[in-house]
Amino acid sequence: MKLTLLAVLLVPIAAPLDTRKPEPKDCSVCKGEDAKMKHAGIESHGDFRFARTDTNTVDELLDKVNIHWIEGKHVKLGFSDISFMSWLEGSGSDEKTDKKPTRIKSLANGALAFEAYARSHAYLERAEDLYLRMQDILQVDDSSFPQVNEYGRKLPPTDPSFPYMGKGPFLGQVGKFEVLYVSGPKEHALYAKSPDGLRGNGTNVQMVRDGEAMSVALHLNDGGMWDDEGVTGNMLHHLTHAYLSGYKHNSYDTPVWIQEGLAHALEREYSPLFTSYCATEDVSSQGRGTNDWNDEAKEILRKLKKPYLEPMLQKASSHALTFEQHVTAWSMVRFLLDEHPDEFAAILNDLHGIGEGQRRVGMPTILTAQMNAFGQHLGMDYKDFDKAWAKWAKKQVKRG
Ligand SMILES: [Zn+2]
Ligand SMILES: [Zn+2]
Repeated sequence: MKLTLLAVLLVPIAAPLDTRKPEPKDCSVCKGEDAKMKHAGIESHGDFRFARTDTNTVDELLDKVNIHWIEGKHVKLGFSDISFMSWLEGSGSDEKTDKKPTRIKSLANGALAFEAYARSHAYLERAEDLYLRMQDILQVDDSSFPQVNEYGRKLPPTDPSFPYMGKGPFLGQVGKFEVLYVSGPKEHALYAKSPDGLRGNGTNVQMVRDGEAMSVALHLNDGGMWDDEGVTGNMLHHLTHAYLSGYKHNSYDTPVWIQEGLAHALEREYSPLFTSYCATEDVSSQGRGTNDWNDEAKEILRKLKKPYLEPMLQKASSHALTFEQHVTAWSMVRFLLDEHPDEFAAILNDLHGIGEGQRRVGMPTILTAQMNAFGQHLGMDYKDFDKAWAKWAKKQVKRG
């Protein structure tokens, strides 16, 4: 791929309004037929509860775009139309251009080039795959969580010794996790701030319907992304935050180094060529990083002095982390995933559900729990951990 293409400024614009609403029978994968939908692992192609209300209300709110809805076993997803004809070469390029549509074939790649419903199937599959990866990391499965009846009421646990595992079947949440991918920042802002959308305060991951579910909102022109791998990586990064925050109950208080480290790790498991950074404004920022983060980690160990973990514990949000700390957090989580998976699962188990859903848990309580969990499960204090991680990180040669 030429660098000139990497540098182009891409402006996806919503396709002209198609007066006909998308219908499941248009889906090239399942044609909206029950047996085929079941075979494809989906439960519906729309008309379900979503964000603050439901998919019909979101359709009305974003009436200039067609959203293709899909519901899987653990995740509900909406993906808006994109028009590749309107992706133009612009002022982001160093080269002089006459702003004509160009390289449409290069841009319309992977699942982004699929028929719209098929694209929603592909993105849902990736979200569901990440859900299974998350269950694997947490060492839980669907049966680990309380079941709810059709009215959303928690069923009494059959085993009284059942530990606190949240309020519902989806990693502890009552409702399925949600993702909406809209075409650009304008639609994203409209949706994220509206009372009928996320009614958000600027983050991309929100608790909705009185704590029933966690909903993620993203757009397709975030950080100049234009290809399938980057768009998917960005979704996986934010879904990792939602899955981890929602584990047992949402306290939003997982230490930021674990949140970012795990989100980078799972995004990079999908593709190490993309890196999402969360911001607190209307949109998240996303950057393309072709550098090898194992090399970056070695560089940090050469240049920066100890301690490595402790300074990150004082950071209250992801955008307060330096680039070096993003890399360090990723590398430390990678170390835990690769060398201490059982201990990492036990630490995450200890850090979540401390208040048993009754109250918000403050950071001092979480940090005390983290220190105790490190001692109990890893047999390390933070000094020992820095040392063990540094020894491991210096030896990593596989691209990360
Ligand atoms: Zn379908
Ligand atoms: Zn993040």
